[in-house]
Amino acid sequence: MESYRELDPAGVRGVVFDIDDTVTRNGVLEPDAYAAMHLLADGGFELVAVTGRPLGWTDVIARLWPVRVAVGENGAGWAWVDDAGTHEGYFCTEAERSKQAALLDTIRRKAKSAMPHVQTTNDDRHRRCDLAFDVGESVSLPRAEIDALVALIEDLGARSSVSTVHAHAIPGPWDKAEGVARALEDVLGIDLSSEIEHWVFVGDSGNDAAAFERFPKSVGVANVREHLDRLPVPPRYVTDGDRGRGFAELAAHLVDGLG
Ligand SMILES: [Mg+2]
Repeated sequence: MESYRELDPAGVRGVVFDIDDTVTRNGVLEPDAYAAMHLLADGGFELVAVTGRPLGWTDVIARLWPVRVAVGENGAGWAWVDDAGTHEGYFCTEAERSKQAALLDTIRRKAKSAMPHVQTTNDDRHRRCDLAFDVGESVSLPRAEIDALVALIEDLGARSSVSTVHAHAIPGPWDKAEGVARALEDVLGIDLSSEIEHWVFVGDSGNDAAAFERFPKSVGVANVREHLDRLPVPPRYVTDGDRGRGFAELAAHLVDGLG
């Protein structure tokens, strides 16, 4: 990985960023990172937050943060705000989502009987399209148990994604990169594939894998080094600081590049 200073800021139109452990520390948004979002937005960059967190949270993030779109549940849906109000979009149709909900019910039941000590996340009731188990938020599940949970999810026919805090059962074909692409098309009329070199992605862990692969200008905050074993393609660039401090370094670099 190269230093983020090697990233050429010329022509960058927008910044897509993960939330947990990219702009937060111990679950709390870091002041440096929030200031950096405003710095970027004021500099004219389009901001897109993309997270494994619930779609219920994206409604709030889209309203409170200086972002154009907030994508949740690892790409399953998104929320945005314009003059007409708050809106939501989904990767799958309503009919597809109702089939997916049935699969998640099965996974929830089987996980409860096979691994009764493993709990769904405390943000579960705000989820609309996926199911998430707590592996590192209020408990710290050993790696072997996380692997067993992932195997159970995949054996029942869903995909899985593991972040620092959660293991997700994903019943549809979305991922963070595809979700962001659909959301940008839906909300801003942007064809991401035709201009992806003008967008920067910044993240930190396993559930950012698809985005690290898709975006040529991919950046890891320094704590990404703890998760390289879960990333088939590491980010191209890495910050010096971890979490929100790294995000703020990157933001300052991009804004400096405006000249
Ligand atoms: Mg993260």
